[in-house]
Amino acid sequence: MTLFRAEDIAVRFGGIKAVDGISFGVERGTVFTIIGPNGAGKTTVFNLISRIYDPSQGRLWFDDRDITGLPAHEIAGLGIARTFQNIELFEHATVLDNLLLGRHAHRGTRLWQDFLFTPAVRRSELAHRRKAEEVIDFLDLAAHRDSHIANLSYGVRKVVELARALCTEPKLLLLDEPSSGLNVEETEDMAFWIEDIKKDLGITVLMVEHDMTLVNQVSDRVLALNYGRILAEGTPAEVQAHPDVVRAYLGGV
Ligand code: ATP
Repeated sequence: MTLFRAEDIAVRFGGIKAVDGISFGVERGTVFTIIGPNGAGKTTVFNLISRIYDPSQGRLWFDDRDITGLPAHEIAGLGIARTFQNIELFEHATVLDNLLLGRHAHRGTRLWQDFLFTPAVRRSELAHRRKAEEVIDFLDLAAHRDSHIANLSYGVRKVVELARALCTEPKLLLLDEPSSGLNVEETEDMAFWIEDIKKDLGITVLMVEHDMTLVNQVSDRVLALNYGRILAEGTPAEVQAHPDVVRAYLGGV
């Protein structure tokens, strides 16, 4: 069963075709990874899905719904969450506060209710806290719960960013280079978290990643791009053995 589908999508920046007519589908409960050399179009595909860019051609489907024209803020409400290549957290707030902010997409109360602090607001506030605490336990962040982001190591911040995305209870989690800036040990931990997110939470993951050890460990399917086009799609082993992929990584395409 397909959760997300891109159909013949393209994006042009002036004369550059950053993404040039690609199609792929992500099955529910799997990890799907986009790889490719620098400038291949990976980030542009991500920005298309999270609706930062509009495609100049093609359609995007999520959960059997056409999301092509939807504004970015509606995407989170549908169940798509993302992390960024460069961490985007509130530096001077605690881990818990950052996670509670991550729950924003789930707020079911209205402003006037917030103002009056009605029982409905109190109930939803408690639910937000419960969810945040649950995610803190799941990602083993209890020791950092009340620390300010600015005082945490880069590796822990990456896990907090993951936690914030999980707090929105997404069906599809978009991870933009989850290993970037991490050392070998932290990258191994990240791989375990991604596997747990898939297995224990049943969340579908679509990621862009450079680190092939991480890609091999967690991916069910891999899509290789170059110059905005698909070079190969398949299992991690199939894609890495594909002659066009080998050539692109050696710089010969
Ligand atoms: P990297 O691994 O370096 O992050 P990438 O595969 O994510 O690369 P993109 O960032 O999607 O590649 O870029 C694809 C192409 O589109 C590149 O030629 C890039 O220079 C160009 N590009 C990306 N964003 C823009 C933009 N906002 N304006 C103009 N050109 C852009």
